[in-house]
Amino acid sequence: MSEIKEKLEALKSELPANVKLVAVSKYKPVEMIIETYETGLRDFGENYVQELVEKYEQMPKDTNWHFIGHLQTNKVKYIAPFVSLIHSVDSFKLLKEINKQAAKNDRVIECLLQIFIAEEDTKTGMDISELKDILKSEELKNLKNIKIVGLMGMSTFTDNIAQVRNEFKKLKACFDQYKDHITDNIELMEVSMGMSGDYNLAIEEGSTMVRVGSAIFGNR
Ligand SMILES: *Cc1c(COP(=O)(O)O)cnc(C)c1O
Repeated sequence: MSEIKEKLEALKSELPANVKLVAVSKYKPVEMIIETYETGLRDFGENYVQELVEKYEQMPKDTNWHFIGHLQTNKVKYIAPFVSLIHSVDSFKLLKEINKQAAKNDRVIECLLQIFIAEEDTKTGMDISELKDILKSEELKNLKNIKIVGLMGMSTFTDNIAQVRNEFKKLKACFDQYKDHITDNIELMEVSMGMSGDYNLAIEEGSTMVRVGSAIFGNR
């Protein structure tokens, strides 16, 4: 068995049945993604629009593409025809543009709102008051071509486990606060948190979706 397949099998055996695995393939060649695809995995995460579009064109069409990086409004149009889930929606402006491009493609695009949970100021996302404003806004009701299906967060890059755990708790608390706020285009079901270094912790704190790159594909 190849190294990728071994790592993937080990990882899958650790994940509870309710936790989805998104294999983060940024900077990795299509050959490696295909190897992973052949094990049955269909969900792949990418951070850069151009790289995602190139890989989309080369991979089988039943691949589910997750966009997990910072998304500029002027680039939404390139991924709108095919993206499965956008994890990194960090403003209402971006959400409106996704809605517009989704409408042009006659589809509904599922989105996660990225919440700022880390102490580092390098990580992006909205704060809890912005989340509330968006979920309660009148204008959101008109966005028929997006659906908000959960929240995403990234913890601080640190060895301090207590701190990371707290950050994940913060995201799960946000999720719990709004999970019963269900409308035509809001139904929070996913908590996307946990990467190669902290997915076990994230799962303990209620993650439903882990985004794992280097633990599958090796260091970038
Ligand atoms: C790169 C990246 C990941 C995967 O990181 P690893 O540490 O390689 O598992 C997950 N989420 C986001 C948002 C990323 O940018």
